[in-house]
Amino acid sequence: MRLLIIEDDLDLGETLASALRHAGHQVGWARSAADAQVLLRDEIYDVLLLDLGLPGEDGLDYLRRLRNEGYIEAILILTARDAVEDRVQGLDAGADDYLVKPFSIEELSARLRALQRRRQGRRQEQLVHGPLILDPASMQVTQDNRPVDLSRREFALLQALLTHCGRVMSRAQLEEALYGWGQDIESNTIEVHIHHLRRKLDPKLIRTIRGVGYLIERIPA
Ligand code: CA
Repeated sequence: MRLLIIEDDLDLGETLASALRHAGHQVGWARSAADAQVLLRDEIYDVLLLDLGLPGEDGLDYLRRLRNEGYIEAILILTARDAVEDRVQGLDAGADDYLVKPFSIEELSARLRALQRRRQGRRQEQLVHGPLILDPASMQVTQDNRPVDLSRREFALLQALLTHCGRVMSRAQLEEALYGWGQDIESNTIEVHIHHLRRKLDPKLIRTIRGVGYLIERIPA
């Protein structure tokens, strides 16, 4: 797996990075939220291993910010804070799991495997919006049972909007969804792709929220 350790403690960071590399993972290491933010711009990680006590922006605040910005990959908190309310806060803020220091590398590895299984299951789930179906496993989109031919970036944009159905996605959040597809993002890229999606799909599907971003509305139950 591709892992990003966000940990300011030198000894722990080094020990963890080397143990996880030894276990076959690709490991990045940031020593603050600001450093992590720089790495996240260029790299995709499967799991962030987040320490809460960080210099500068606190781990919990950073976690909330990531989730508010639409970051959807797994986040596992590694911390010395072991009070029940700390765990509850961490999970409520959007962490997928929580491990209290000191922990064994075996337990961490087992938690990582469990996270991977859970998220693979979720990632493979079809996104259904009325007659529109997006299948992440086959990367196919169908509208009224007819295949719709989308570019990889159009697919990624539509997937991000459908995943966050009912929520307005800012241009920055949508750009983030495209980071995995390489190349620099031109300032008007999102608009161009949205324009293409509207031509290929129901033109009313994606709403523009002026000055904020784009939205696919939930279909009322
Ligand atoms: Ca720390």
